[in-house]
Amino acid sequence: MLIERADVIITSPGRNFVTLKITTSDGVVGHGDATLNGRELSVASYLDDHVAPLLVGRDAHAIEDTWQYLYRGGYWRRGPVTMAAIAAVDTALWDIKAKVAGLPLYQLLGGPSRRRCLVYGHASGKDLPELFDSVREHLEAGFRAVRVQTGVPGLDSVYGVASSAAASVGEPGRYDYEPARRAASPAEESWDTRAYLRHVPSVFEAVRGEFGEEVALLHDAHHRLTPIQAAKLGKSLEPYDLFWLEDVTPAENQEALRWVRHHTTTPLAIGEVFNTIWDYQHLVREQLIDYVRSPITHAGGITGVRRILDYAALYQVKSGMHGPTDVSPVGLAAAVHLGLAVHNFGIQEYMVHSERTREVFGPTHEFAQGGLRPSEEPGLGIHFDEELAAEHPYEPAYLPVNRLLDGSVHDW
Ligand SMILES: [Mg+2]
Repeated sequence: MLIERADVIITSPGRNFVTLKITTSDGVVGHGDATLNGRELSVASYLDDHVAPLLVGRDAHAIEDTWQYLYRGGYWRRGPVTMAAIAAVDTALWDIKAKVAGLPLYQLLGGPSRRRCLVYGHASGKDLPELFDSVREHLEAGFRAVRVQTGVPGLDSVYGVASSAAASVGEPGRYDYEPARRAASPAEESWDTRAYLRHVPSVFEAVRGEFGEEVALLHDAHHRLTPIQAAKLGKSLEPYDLFWLEDVTPAENQEALRWVRHHTTTPLAIGEVFNTIWDYQHLVREQLIDYVRSPITHAGGITGVRRILDYAALYQVKSGMHGPTDVSPVGLAAAVHLGLAVHNFGIQEYMVHSERTREVFGPTHEFAQGGLRPSEEPGLGIHFDEELAAEHPYEPAYLPVNRLLDGSVHDW
């Protein structure tokens, strides 16, 4: 069974997505997610101009060989654009292999290790009443774990806080939090770390007081702190028993996490901007983190992320794959299949896609009892509607840029 064609499909049903469709000589079709939020067209070009022509005529079953061919054969290794492109090819080939086998993909990855994949949703509010409403709404929708992000007094807009107070879980046209805005250039936000550090512990104290000890609470500092600030935050949140504290420092400096680790027992998660196993080399071996965040979409596909998770498992580090709406339903489906199969699954981020997005992609995984489970149909369980996709052309959209109060650029 040879690869006959590889087509890149860009669609924007509420937000931009890049999808790779591989068709075999037997007429089997597989899909892979190549969405890189705010840089979508770079991956589309990488695939269209440099990868798709190389795929034609290759053995569709030779997944590992194709992965190595694209990774080593490209010479310029790693990086988000390259690894998103490889991810899309890899995921589409796994989809094809599972369809040919007549099995849901997780069966090819070792079969189920659990009944479903625990997920966390995004609760947020500009102030406590709004935040409480959002947490309550998630719990009523069946979530058992929520990420809590809050406005900070004195700052106009803060990462992770929905701009619409009317946002609700899974409603058409409404996201809890969608940071990429459709515009020719990025929006600019402002930031004050001291104000943030003063405010956040009181928010978690209030949330624990209102909702009790059972619900799993997570928080994302979004790469904004120095190691000593991060250590202080982790320490101050210890009484509220967080499931994890995410991205406390800029992720590229692995050393920074050692400082944080030595000062706090709050579990740490990092890696949504990492794209290979090498980015975790020291973090995992030195046990400086508890969860790895790389999504299948950005880290070389199922093959790339499974390698990371097998390495992480040696050190009791678990998965916590990035999964906001910038990972398409194809990428999410792949995450749920892999999450169901691997032993060291931890939790899956799950920001419900809009109705329009779900209509285009036709995902079949289902949410119940606080978790996701793939459907039993062969492959990933995706029914991509190309005609509908064509009705939603690409529109430029960017993630915001962040500035400190003195005007200097800061990590967003
Ligand atoms: Mg994050």
